[in-house]
Amino acid sequence: MPRHPIDLIGFDADDTLWQNEAYFRLSQARFSDLLKDHAETDDLAARLLQVEKRNLGRYGFGVKGFVLSMIETAIEVTQGRVPAPVIAELLAAGREMLEQPIELLPHVQSTVETLAADHPLVLITKGDLLDQERKLAQSGLGGLFAGVEILSDKTPQTYSQVFDRHGTPPDRAMMVGNSLKSDILPVLSLGGTGVHVPHGLSWALDLADPPEGHPRFHQLDSMAGLADLVKTVADT
Ligand SMILES: [Mg+2]
Repeated sequence: MPRHPIDLIGFDADDTLWQNEAYFRLSQARFSDLLKDHAETDDLAARLLQVEKRNLGRYGFGVKGFVLSMIETAIEVTQGRVPAPVIAELLAAGREMLEQPIELLPHVQSTVETLAADHPLVLITKGDLLDQERKLAQSGLGGLFAGVEILSDKTPQTYSQVFDRHGTPPDRAMMVGNSLKSDILPVLSLGGTGVHVPHGLSWALDLADPPEGHPRFHQLDSMAGLADLVKTVADT
């Protein structure tokens, strides 16, 4: 009897299962507004992105690093004169992000339920540990995942370690996510299958070009087609 070709399905979390980037955009708009007397919006956005990039290796991905980067940028653009109430507002924006109710994306609940019935599903995400644990708990999807992997970064090496831990050769693993750079390309490079489900909003530091004509690369408009795609991949 032929073995099922997909033994494990990995799911990205932010902007794949639930909304995330939209809240970053709202906080960034608040940030721009608070500092409008000190910098133009476009210039401020570029400065913030630069600071975030510089800090990624120190703080990692997530809300806490984002807030620290906003504060650092505010200090820079005001030449050290940013008023304490502005910093207090930025901290409040961060706290609100960490308390934001979970909003599942369309078709996520039913798709994850369907697939969990006959595949081990693993949540594979970056971000702040506490925040990702909270979001998974509040999503109500926690019980459907056989494993949860919160990584400091998503690289071929970290995916390889995840697949190893779950005893799955990479060519029997599928990863589903909204980011070509983080969710798809590293998994394709290991010999796995990548399913890109684009989200309208993408973080500037998480962009990459799609692979062209790759046999293990798939793209879906929404999560609605995923269960059928898994079947199709299994039959080929
Ligand atoms: Mg994502």
